[in-house]
Amino acid sequence: MIWNHRPSDRPVLETSIPAGVSFHVQGLSKVYTMGEVEVFALRSINLEVYDQEFMVILGPSGSGKSTLLNILGGLDVPTSGQVFFHERNLTHASDAELTRFRRDCVGFIFQFYNLIPSLTARENVALVIEIARYPMRPEVALDLVGLSDRLDHFPSQLSGGEQQRVAIARAIAKRPEVLLCDEPTGALDYKTGKLVLEALERVNQELGTTTIVITHNAGIAAMADRVVTMRSGEIIRVQHNQNKVSPAELEW
Ligand code: ADP
Repeated sequence: MIWNHRPSDRPVLETSIPAGVSFHVQGLSKVYTMGEVEVFALRSINLEVYDQEFMVILGPSGSGKSTLLNILGGLDVPTSGQVFFHERNLTHASDAELTRFRRDCVGFIFQFYNLIPSLTARENVALVIEIARYPMRPEVALDLVGLSDRLDHFPSQLSGGEQQRVAIARAIAKRPEVLLCDEPTGALDYKTGKLVLEALERVNQELGTTTIVITHNAGIAAMADRVVTMRSGEIIRVQHNQNKVSPAELEW
């Protein structure tokens, strides 16, 4: 099933964003001021993220990946430039509008899973869908990430990779249009990391969730539709993968 926001849910048109574009980023800069020192985390970034694509943003530590992802997800605001999510200008949004955008449209996956230890896998997922508009049953979300036999396990009874897959189920159970993943395999070994990437690929293919994965691991890039390479706050390359490979075939 492919889920998108109903057109009637969309706010008033503010600019002309091409059809099929989820995020339209224009001249985006972020400067952190630390006393006398200015750190240019992002330097005039331009980028379009297409509906339903699987994008990997690659770059060394400190290149600006998390800053960009956090701004796309409405967790942070830029110093200058614009970000549109469809026709919604996130850079002009109020705090309440950003909260609504995050709640309704975005699922986040971080390196550490942040599950509630006293709740089972099923309960961790169920908690989140209470506030969702079009929720998926926790069992369905957990099945999608290959955990239908772990519904009643507590986080301490699950491996790191399984906990990350519960976190993915939790993020997608509200059927977000976009999934933003910050080093989702960063704490995992090669084998369990691949299972997590397989879960992300399946969500992307079966739900049509636009997915952005940031990583310093170049080995992951081959599974993406497009690979964006960052260095020192700039995008230095955007590459289409003509023949993307399945996570099982990745090497790193
Ligand atoms: P990456 O995700 O690629 O590792 P980041 O986006 O985290 O890169 O960081 C980009 C740059 O911005 C780095 O130089 C980092 O030190 C700096 N930076 C990030 N967050 C902050 C912050 N809250 N305050 C000051 N500097 C920051």
